[in-house]
Amino acid sequence: MPAEEVQERGREAMSEPTLEAARALLRRHHGHEDFRLQQAGAIEALLAGRDALVLMPTGGGKSVCYQIPALLRPGTGVVVSPLIALMQDQVSALAQIGIRAAFLNSTQSAAERRATEQALREGALDLVYLAPERLLMPETLALLESIPVALFAIDEAHCVSQWGHDFRPEYRQLSVLHARFPRVPRIALTATADPRTRREIVEALALQDAVCLVSSFDRPNIRYHISEGQNARERLWDFIEQAHPQDAGIVYCLSRRKVEETARWLSERGRVALPYHAGLDDATRAAHQARFLAEDGVIIVATIAFGMGIDKPDVRFVAHLSLPKSIEAYYQETGRAGRDGEPADAWMAYGLQDVITLRQMMQEGTAEEQQQRIQQQKLEAMLGLCELSTCRRQALLAWFGETLDAPCGNCDNCLQPPQTWDATEVARKALSAVYRTGQRYGTGHVIKVLRGLRDDRIERLGHDRLSVFGIGDALDEGEWRGVFRQLIARGLLAVDAGGYGVLRLTEASRPLLRGETTLELRKRASSGRRQKRRAAAVEALAPADQALFEALRALRLRLAREQGVPPYVIFSDATLRAMAEHRPADEAALLEISGVGQQKLERYGQAFLDEINAHGVKLA
Ligand code: ADP
Ligand code: ZN
Repeated sequence: MPAEEVQERGREAMSEPTLEAARALLRRHHGHEDFRLQQAGAIEALLAGRDALVLMPTGGGKSVCYQIPALLRPGTGVVVSPLIALMQDQVSALAQIGIRAAFLNSTQSAAERRATEQALREGALDLVYLAPERLLMPETLALLESIPVALFAIDEAHCVSQWGHDFRPEYRQLSVLHARFPRVPRIALTATADPRTRREIVEALALQDAVCLVSSFDRPNIRYHISEGQNARERLWDFIEQAHPQDAGIVYCLSRRKVEETARWLSERGRVALPYHAGLDDATRAAHQARFLAEDGVIIVATIAFGMGIDKPDVRFVAHLSLPKSIEAYYQETGRAGRDGEPADAWMAYGLQDVITLRQMMQEGTAEEQQQRIQQQKLEAMLGLCELSTCRRQALLAWFGETLDAPCGNCDNCLQPPQTWDATEVARKALSAVYRTGQRYGTGHVIKVLRGLRDDRIERLGHDRLSVFGIGDALDEGEWRGVFRQLIARGLLAVDAGGYGVLRLTEASRPLLRGETTLELRKRASSGRRQKRRAAAVEALAPADQALFEALRALRLRLAREQGVPPYVIFSDATLRAMAEHRPADEAALLEISGVGQQKLERYGQAFLDEINAHGVKLA
């Protein structure tokens, strides 16, 4: 970094840094015009010396929240992260934008660690990344006490939660930071939303006085698409061919065997497709992951073992060849697409066989009965989302307690409304049966009553004498289950939290019962309907700009290879797309492009300008 800049930063830090100064750094280093989501709020809190809790979806831009205050406050920012494998990439990416960062972890030699410690003592680092177990070592804490610390950033903060999927006991001990560094502001960050996890973070990390910043969990750039039916693999190929012929993506399958088969199948069709599952040895898995990160356009075919901690912003599609176990899992897995904010697809094809397999896996699992029932209900909710004929995003967000006022216009159901049938009468029968049996039973029992089937319980309860007994024998069990899932997915029936699946009517079901509204349900898909769509990221470009976009990508890949860094560390897809579109003619114009900061301009500006020039600068 140039000496003037160090001085300038020092001055900024001494004269009470402001959001204005922060914005100037965002422009200079990151090349972004302004803050988004809760970034400004988080930065203001830290600059004022307060703690912050930031909940932002994946790709929201959490790292800016601590990077910039670490530059503005005196001392080094300490980032606690469990993802040791990512630290090298994070540090290289920061070096690219002129931020001085290093890490301390167990993968380093003693000499490398000593060098970082020395740099810390000399005040030569803006940021240092540490795994929690390293931070908690007495000598590390002593070192940090001997230097000025700008802030502590606790990344992946949901790891303190015993309820979450990713509990790490060391995270519990991070409360020591509050005790030993009472004057250093702390910021905890996570993309895990639910209220229970949030409460646990606040308690375990003593963040009671923290400014709490929650962003919407909507991922508007992700286009959801779900279909049921035969030939899932052929349809996957159509989708990849048409929408993502050159893009990186992840394909999730339920079993290792299906992973292997699908990877081979895609490879035979000419794509670089690599398997990833727990049955492969560590070296192979690591090699496949490394290629996915380092090369353009690699497809990873994986069981759910893949994904946690994968920090690749330009994954353009996530495809499911089987049904996720729950809406949470679906949201998390699809959330790995489009972290850079550019258009991305979440595509899924499932068959009813998946549902049967999943149900069996749950029944054969070791979970207790109560837990099994909860798993079954989560699966039913997921199916409810699949069978929806209305906006997917509205339903998805509603599941997380958020309301989206209008249909999104960027899901399959919004774009190509599915064929439906008038289910008003059927739904009224279902609701009546729930009501007449006393709102005390689950779907299985109510369906038996509707279909007029007798068993011991029905006879004992006298439910075979109810007026609703046998009024629904026109539908079979599977069809009825579909109807109930839809009623639940649309909030016309509620499931009690007790785990027994007890159904109740809701406020929303009254108008339907009284005959004041109608209900349309999705028709079962006819198999194999093809969907034509071009790659969204390229689609947005005029044909003449697409060639330039591809040329810029090739240039980026070459530069990345030379330095041994992943391509997105050089420039994001969004930045390349903006270059192809606006065709800046000189450095000043290039700097206007989002993602081009001062340092990247100096390093790569000429190369990219030359490439643009070769394709012809745009005439006004
Ligand atoms: P997260 O950690 O929340 O998943 P990142 O910090 O990795 O997200 O940022 C995701 C992407 O968003 C990156 O490509 C980053 O450059 C971009 N980004 C971050 N802040 C902004 C901003 N204010 N304006 C535009 N892009 C931004
Ligand atoms: Zn929609």
